[in-house]
Amino acid sequence: MAKYTGPACRLCRREGEKLYLKGDRCYNISSDGTQGRKLCPLEKGRINPPGPVKTGRRKVSAYALQLREKQKTKRAYGLLEKQFRMYHEKAERMKGMTGENMLILIERRLDNVVFRLGIGSSRAQARQIVTHGHITVNGKNVNIPSYLVSAGDVIAVKESRQGKKIFEAVKEVGAKSALPQWLEFDKTTLTGKVLQLPKREDIDLRIKEHMIVELYSK
Ligand code: SF4
Repeated sequence: MAKYTGPACRLCRREGEKLYLKGDRCYNISSDGTQGRKLCPLEKGRINPPGPVKTGRRKVSAYALQLREKQKTKRAYGLLEKQFRMYHEKAERMKGMTGENMLILIERRLDNVVFRLGIGSSRAQARQIVTHGHITVNGKNVNIPSYLVSAGDVIAVKESRQGKKIFEAVKEVGAKSALPQWLEFDKTTLTGKVLQLPKREDIDLRIKEHMIVELYSK
């Protein structure tokens, strides 16, 4: 399936919850850096799904619910179907619960870690930061967003790039959302560390991963 290039907020409205796809706007921070005014359409009460208004009660099939759960997860992490399925296949070959393993694998992606550290304000921006070669892992250049971090890895913004406007802002205000327990971050040096691999409870998205596993097992 091709990459979605339409309005990001439409995807959140489709899923009926905040997927944090637009960076500052999701945290109600306007372009001049001020906060206070509600900017997120969902917070403003625009909770209806996009498209024509449907009337009457419709029975939603189990398949439809499973599909929505998969789409929501894929969209939150900005993955294509092929990549997403690959994580599921890899998780199936691992010991333990396939759904949990799949989410943990995805959570370990370098672009997600850069987002979680607060270096990028959205996963899309974090991906761009990685592909543009601003990030090192254990002192080596890594520009592959799907790179999987391991416990003990040190993720940093290259010293030569730290003067860029977007990184200066991170130094000033730090991350916009809470830092997960499996990571630590020093905003003065723009350096983070993976203290341990993430656990299921560290992933704050409301995902029913068993439904995704059921969908793929059909
Ligand atoms: Fe989703 Fe709100 Fe962010 Fe738009 S502003 S992408 S609706 S969380």
